[in-house]
Amino acid sequence: MSQSVCILGVTGSIGQSTLKILQQHPEQYAVFAVTAHSRMLELVEICKQYHPKIVVVPVGKVEELQQYFKQHQLTNIEILTDEAGLIAVAEHRDVDIVMAAIVGAAGLLPTLAAVKAGKRVLLANKEALVMSGDLMMQAAHDSHAELLPVDSEHNAIFQCLPEGYFQNERNGQPKQGVSRILLTASGGPFLNHSLQQLKTVTVAQACKHPKWSMGQKISVDSATLMNKGLELIEACHLFAISEQFITVVVHPQSIIHSMVQYVDGSTLAQMGNPDMCTPIAHALAWPKRIKTHVPALDLFVMQQLDFQEPDTTRFPALKLARQAMQSGGLAPTILNAANEIAVAAFLNNRIGFTEISQVVEHTLNQVETGAAESIELILQVDQLARSTAEKIVMNHGS
Ligand code: NAD
Ligand code: MG
Repeated sequence: MSQSVCILGVTGSIGQSTLKILQQHPEQYAVFAVTAHSRMLELVEICKQYHPKIVVVPVGKVEELQQYFKQHQLTNIEILTDEAGLIAVAEHRDVDIVMAAIVGAAGLLPTLAAVKAGKRVLLANKEALVMSGDLMMQAAHDSHAELLPVDSEHNAIFQCLPEGYFQNERNGQPKQGVSRILLTASGGPFLNHSLQQLKTVTVAQACKHPKWSMGQKISVDSATLMNKGLELIEACHLFAISEQFITVVVHPQSIIHSMVQYVDGSTLAQMGNPDMCTPIAHALAWPKRIKTHVPALDLFVMQQLDFQEPDTTRFPALKLARQAMQSGGLAPTILNAANEIAVAAFLNNRIGFTEISQVVEHTLNQVETGAAESIELILQVDQLARSTAEKIVMNHGS
């Protein structure tokens, strides 16, 4: 029998790659529900091809979508709206697998709902885990949800860890002979820029990643290295390992997607051409393997592999994220919220590239942290950090 899939954020880069794989395996997977925040015409094309039973859009888009459905003679598709709709499809009893591919904090509650409902959750939406950390992991433990990483690095680490690793006690220590995680980073488009050059980079330059084609927000995060910072926090939670056991390694070719080191001197790496279809297919089918269109690595034509240490003077975001993880509690929530505001301000040409990290740093200094006791508190502090970051953006340059 085929498995029923819900794709949160279907019109995005990860959503599209997910559809590409499902299309190759129609006998194994059926698209039950999809959600989109914008691009209604693209959503209609998706509905024509995949026939979901439910779509979720913002309430303000319903009329437009209904018009398109009429024009294209699409019937029998239920339309739900806003956050309540996202949560309803994420926890729907007819859904087996949820792809969490909304960008940013907007994905938190739907992702958490899927986890609480005990689904197989394919986690692309790293911000959701950065914000809710232990609460999300505890919810997965309680509901027996399978929270599987789609982020290429975390998927690589998952593949390199020993079997049964996740049954261990979660006390931050590496287990079962594991000694260290090597989290790889491409270094982004500005790897070799001087601090002076970084001050004048444009939005277009920041959004053009040398190795991966991704949504705007994660592209800017990759350019500041905040993406690696968020991923460091993501790895701590997913693999129950404290940040001191994670080393970030810049590897510009993005062929090795991360590594796990063992006490006997072994280092295991997962390699492949940089294409998100590989980790998505892995998480979809795990522990089985399914085919993708991604070509196998050709070692005879492969360029050389380089490695270097990240420079946190030019890219302070990585340092800020590590410090936030060390502080724990609500600090990662504040970091993430401030970063979302700062990246949006950069994309709207309100602040310069190097100011993104400054806004995050100032917000972290101004908003009080504490224990992340409940999801309500996390959402409250997220809002507070956003308004603080917004004020810092407004005062910038004045
Ligand atoms: P994207 O911008 O291309 O797509 C985002 C999707 O989320 C779209 O479908 C959009 O309609 C929806 N969305 C945006 N705002 C929303 C809101 N307020 N409410 C509901 N839905 C909303 O982003 P992406 O590149 O596909 O990334 C998605 C997530 O996956 C991000 O968290 C990103 O960090 C992570 N990720 C992406 C990649 C990649 O290669 N693109 C790799 C690893 C992890
Ligand atoms: Mg990644």
